[in-house]
Amino acid sequence: MKIGCPTEIKPQEFRVGLTPVAAAEAVTHGHEVLVQAGAGDGAGYMDADYEAAGARIAHTAEEVFEKAEMIVKVKEPQAGERKMLSEGQLLFTYLHLAPDRAQTDDLLASGATCIAYETVTDARGGLPLLAPMSEVAGRLAPQMGAYTLQKANGGRGVLMGGVPGVAPARVVVIGGGVVGTQAARIAAGMGADVTVLDMSLPRLRYLDDTFAGLFKTGYASRTVTAELVARAEMVIGAVLIPGAEAPKLVTREQLSSMLPGAVMVDVAIDQGGCFETSKPTTHQDPSFEVDGIMHYCVANMPGAVPRTSTQALSNATMPFMLSLADQGWQDACRADPHLAAGLNCHAGKLTNRAVARAQNRQA
Ligand code: NAD
Repeated sequence: MKIGCPTEIKPQEFRVGLTPVAAAEAVTHGHEVLVQAGAGDGAGYMDADYEAAGARIAHTAEEVFEKAEMIVKVKEPQAGERKMLSEGQLLFTYLHLAPDRAQTDDLLASGATCIAYETVTDARGGLPLLAPMSEVAGRLAPQMGAYTLQKANGGRGVLMGGVPGVAPARVVVIGGGVVGTQAARIAAGMGADVTVLDMSLPRLRYLDDTFAGLFKTGYASRTVTAELVARAEMVIGAVLIPGAEAPKLVTREQLSSMLPGAVMVDVAIDQGGCFETSKPTTHQDPSFEVDGIMHYCVANMPGAVPRTSTQALSNATMPFMLSLADQGWQDACRADPHLAAGLNCHAGKLTNRAVARAQNRQA
């Protein structure tokens, strides 16, 4: 199959759909790989790296879209890219169609077959192509929080690990899923005193069995959450209620009970945020202060580390990309219901029930 990888054009997107390692793997499987010139620059991959992997370099996005049977990307296609999709072409990327009617209309009009990373499932009920970005955001959260805790950045002036004779920072992580677990591990690794709160007892049992000694766990009742938040130097918001806006777990009123200069990192900001005072920020201007409490609320945290994020995403997408290329999408989806769950549109029809429901359409 001819596999194409265009340069991402969404503002501030530095990731790329294929690493040279993934390109080499596809070439070994007998496929042709066409990468747009400069596509890997933002993630630190040069055109020569792709050529060494056996890929060919295309000068324009038009050439990639015209020649490739499957397009592998990171972000949803932008309006100009959607115009270049053609009937029968396969698109494999994040789409997030539910709230995006304009994109849905264009994809349906194109007649392309579109498989969305975010709706591919796994045998344990997880979302294997979203998990790597949650892992990145989770591990990044204490790092960004620690930076914000520094006095010059508006914070309380506390070192995560303390020093001998001086207590470490107290960190509370609300939500012990993928983001929360990774955040807790890194914060504990920095020497902080960490507690993870969740409402799921099975999840708390798993965390306790696996990480006892590294961090503590607590049941996320209102009372326990309020008590721990009031004493914390850093609060990391990492909850998710699938398909719903994040619940507001720390109110504005509670800020006055917190330590001045404490930091709140709201990773759940892409679902509306789990602190009442959160609003989305960017990497250019990531934090702001409300009532003496610093807030870090970047909605695309993995964008800060595009090289790591690209490698993590590519590791997860590669087996699916290869089976789509080796077998064709129909046989690949027949053989793997988890990949089939990723099918969002085909030949002008919506094929994902949740997206159809969200948009009041037929699937
Ligand atoms: P997940 O499903 O793995 O974990 C969510 C956890 O929250 C679950 O363990 C669940 O039991 C718990 N939870 C739900 N409601 C709760 C409540 N009221 N109190 C305490 N715990 C509660 O999800 P995830 O992959 O860890 O993602 C977490 C959030 O991070 C999501 O909103 C996701 O969209 C977001 N995210 C943001 C970025 C970013 O760049 N900002 C990147 C990746 C993920």
